[in-house]
Amino acid sequence: MPRPTTPTGRDRLLTAFPELHEYGTPALLLHPHLGNPGPQDSSVGGPLLWPADEPWPTCDFLHYDFDAPQGAEEIHFDAPVALQPVLQLFARDLPDEHALHGGAELLQVLWCPNSHPQPPDAFGHGYTPWLTIRSRHDTTNLRPLREQPLAHTAAKEYTLPPCLLAIEEITDYPSGAFLPEELADRIQEWEEDVPQTGHVVPKPSYFYDLAHRRGMKLGGYHRWSLTDPAPIECECGTPMEHLFQIDSMEPGGLERLVISRGYSLGLHHCPASPEHPHHTVMQ
Ligand SMILES: [Zn+2]
Ligand SMILES: [Zn+2]
Repeated sequence: MPRPTTPTGRDRLLTAFPELHEYGTPALLLHPHLGNPGPQDSSVGGPLLWPADEPWPTCDFLHYDFDAPQGAEEIHFDAPVALQPVLQLFARDLPDEHALHGGAELLQVLWCPNSHPQPPDAFGHGYTPWLTIRSRHDTTNLRPLREQPLAHTAAKEYTLPPCLLAIEEITDYPSGAFLPEELADRIQEWEEDVPQTGHVVPKPSYFYDLAHRRGMKLGGYHRWSLTDPAPIECECGTPMEHLFQIDSMEPGGLERLVISRGYSLGLHHCPASPEHPHHTVMQ
């Protein structure tokens, strides 16, 4: 007989509001944990497979130098910074029924591991790394590099240790602002309906226990916490989709990764065309 288990906050919310199921979307938590990935592995901060004829991406944008005298913090480095791997994810490593966007075989995300006053992909924020994506449909021409370029300057909070992934399938739920108002109001009333005297058992919170799961995540919903949730639009007018979330201080290996003051970065892309530039949103 299975051992009875205590329902989690998530279970209690979904039992109280079964209509939430229709707003859930499948997503993957990647659970990066310290390891020794090779270039053929899905990894975070690990070695990448790379086409022999493709230059390694570099960054020549303005950077912050927080040690510089006041008024001179925004600087150009003498030489471009070699971007560093954030994610390498092979479609073959995804659970059944999951695919990479556009049917790609491999997704690679790299960043310049420094703070930028105005990262070119930023959606109205500063201070964060600049990200770039490679979505590869053919991996036969990719090779391990003899020597993967290192960044000559890197902030320690953006220097990622090599990690392997333990991919978990989840159902992710949007921020309350993206639910029908009537449902969001009922959830809020339920959360606040606790006895005012005696021993008060806290109610689960939609925001903390169910919506927009924390951690490094593929798909699902970005965790809005810094500003009010807002739709993100591509320059072509198409609503963008959340591709990838990078979170701060994730246990298991990325405790030292701190986005600005402890926020998360969401990478949003345009479903109309992979050619349209992505947006990075800090929350
Ligand atoms: Zn840079
Ligand atoms: Zn677009």
